[in-house]
Amino acid sequence: MRQFVLASGNVGKLAEINSMLAGEDFQVMPQSAFGVAGVDETGLTFVENAILKAREASRASGLPAIADDSGLEVDALGGAPGVRSARFAGDGADDAANNRKLLEILAGVAAEARGARFRCVMVCLRHPEHPAPVICEGVWEGSIACRPSGSGGFGYDSVFLPSGGKITAASLPDGEKNRLSHRGIALRKLVSALTRIGG
Ligand code: IMP
Repeated sequence: MRQFVLASGNVGKLAEINSMLAGEDFQVMPQSAFGVAGVDETGLTFVENAILKAREASRASGLPAIADDSGLEVDALGGAPGVRSARFAGDGADDAANNRKLLEILAGVAAEARGARFRCVMVCLRHPEHPAPVICEGVWEGSIACRPSGSGGFGYDSVFLPSGGKITAASLPDGEKNRLSHRGIALRKLVSALTRIGG
């Protein structure tokens, strides 16, 4: 088994990543097991933030680190909230407050102008100074619903309507989100890159 630390404290993400890695030759431990609380996400890009998180988790644990940085890009908002998705309604905002703010801003915006996508950048650093991180990206296209529905998932899932479907990400059956999502796509690419590289 290859051991990694997972640089996230987001329980929704941890659950998704662990369930997708079940059966792979990867043992992934949460950064909380090493007392890592997380870093300030000061980067302007998903890739910068993912590397900041992975570097800190690797430094604290002595293990190779996997980190993701992800967010929602809304066309009508010029790609916002993007890297600020977790803090859209202010520092410390919870998912309900972020969703409420998003729906309020988009009130009156027609269905065809409500396009959006989730983006996930996933990185792996072998050690804190690793100069050539493995970097993989996944994108999940969709649109923003007019009201929340569904009880699964986390974050903006209850207001995100995946393209080609009629139900929100929070209403998808178990396993279906991981098959379709930005994080699922990025993680499958990362696992395949790490398997190819070995070591
Ligand atoms: P991060 O932990 O800095 O990567 O912040 C990601 C934020 O983007 C989360 O707190 C959510 O608000 C949002 N987000 C990312 N991925 C998802 C997802 O799969 N579903 C819903 N919201 C997501």
